[in-house]
Amino acid sequence: MTHWKDILQESITTYSALQKHLDCNNTALKEVIANFPMRINPYFLNLIKTPDDPLWKQAVPDSAELEDSICIEDPLGEENLSPVPNLVHRYPDRALFLVTNQCAMYCRFCTRKRKVGTERMHISDDTIRAGFDYLRKTPEIKDVLISGGDPLLLEDEVLENLLLTLRSIPTIEIIRIGTRVPCTLPMRITKRLVDILKKFHPLFINTHFNHPDEITPEAAIACALLADGGIPLGCQTVLLKGVNDNPSIILDLMRALLRIRVKPYYLFQADLTRGTNHFRTPTDRGITIIRHLIGKISGMAIPTFALDAPGGKGKIPLSPDFILARGENLVFNSYCGEVCTYPEAGEAF
Ligand SMILES: *Cc1c(COP(=O)(O)O)cnc(C)c1O
Ligand code: SF4
Repeated sequence: MTHWKDILQESITTYSALQKHLDCNNTALKEVIANFPMRINPYFLNLIKTPDDPLWKQAVPDSAELEDSICIEDPLGEENLSPVPNLVHRYPDRALFLVTNQCAMYCRFCTRKRKVGTERMHISDDTIRAGFDYLRKTPEIKDVLISGGDPLLLEDEVLENLLLTLRSIPTIEIIRIGTRVPCTLPMRITKRLVDILKKFHPLFINTHFNHPDEITPEAAIACALLADGGIPLGCQTVLLKGVNDNPSIILDLMRALLRIRVKPYYLFQADLTRGTNHFRTPTDRGITIIRHLIGKISGMAIPTFALDAPGGKGKIPLSPDFILARGENLVFNSYCGEVCTYPEAGEAF
């Protein structure tokens, strides 16, 4: 089997390679790529079937990226919430720790588009050390999310050392890794990697699939290896215009995720990230999609539709409303639309 690094080496990163491999002729894309890096590795390239299909849209630059006058660079106020560079402390008991600026593919809709894959995201031994120091002196942080970039692009040894240091901080209970590698470069998930990861339980992985066509035999093998290592797998899907913004695609995706032992966790409303406005859908689209799923498929397969509030105010669930009236009786709709009544128990909370 080809080593994952050799596959990554063969990625399309320039306009001329894009022209050659995808017959893509639009010189405006040169400027897009100069602003926001491109990386389409041969594995993901192979999944693209036709121009502008849902996988193409996620991977291939679009001139709309430079025509976005609505969105902002850092919509979640991450830089303001970083006590040290690349560590975001937004919630009382958990923190987001960015440990690399590299990804197996640069998703065109990325929330951290302002810096991912570029020198604008400066990560060094010094920034990592500063992150660990902050975690050590902030014992209220019980849950650390390692992200980036994609942490699983780090070498096995580098990742292992990072996890060893995290586990040497006794106040940290939960380690989570956010990675898109099971979807974009599944051959990165090796037995050797899993043998390292499983030494650091409780360790969770949240991965990121957006379309049923991404659930390939290779992705299934990667997730099986991780699940067999006792690592609970969640998925953080982003709702994207022209990619997955309809109920039947999301329904198929959520079912397919459960089949490969990945539990749908969040379905995100697209963030207000500059260069991604062409991907945004009205919030009502997501709520309607969730409404469509409820009752039709297992609750196990239904993610929370969430909006990450602008300015770093945190994730908020946007849920379909089933309640018609409150009072002595709760009146509500069943999943298929019948009106139901439930007598209240008396004293309110
Ligand atoms: C999303 C996020 C978390 C984790 O949120 P959960 O709801 O616990 O998954 C933590 N910190 C930051 C900065 C985040 O963006
Ligand atoms: S893998 Fe994640 S961090 Fe990397 S470009 Fe895609 S969305 Fe952004």
